[in-house]
Amino acid sequence: MATIFSRIIAGEIPCYKVAENDRYFAFLDINPLAKGHTLVVPKCETDYIFDLDDDTLAGMTIFAKQIAAKIKEFSGCKKVAMVVLGLEVPHAHIHLIPMNTENDVDFRKEKLKLTPEEFVEIAAALNR
Ligand code: 5GP
Repeated sequence: MATIFSRIIAGEIPCYKVAENDRYFAFLDINPLAKGHTLVVPKCETDYIFDLDDDTLAGMTIFAKQIAAKIKEFSGCKKVAMVVLGLEVPHAHIHLIPMNTENDVDFRKEKLKLTPEEFVEIAAALNR
């Protein structure tokens, strides 16, 4: 069965898309730690990120780097954290999270509740 992220990539489940190319897809995390919290995923369905072949893994990092620059510009944060963790969705993903303090990437924190309008606005800003 396709993962929820594959179904998002296929357009079967809606998302707030940030970027896409032939190999990778980026969209806003629906439970963000901060405005701009983005997930970067490979289009090929692999659970564990270190099972990706070297070229796909390297390309994913470069794709994430381009989005991180946009997140940094949008949020004015000090740095964008690149985090790989979690067991919830068996589809490799990188979290990109605006960060001013280490506490900003504490996944135990309560997530933001954004309105659809806010998600649309953030995705549009990161799409530019
Ligand atoms: P993890 O595997 O990293 O623990 O969790 C997966 C991440 O994907 C979580 O941060 C969760 O909020 C996000 N997520 C799970 N399902 C969806 C979804 O349907 N849409 C979006 N945009 N994000 C999701």
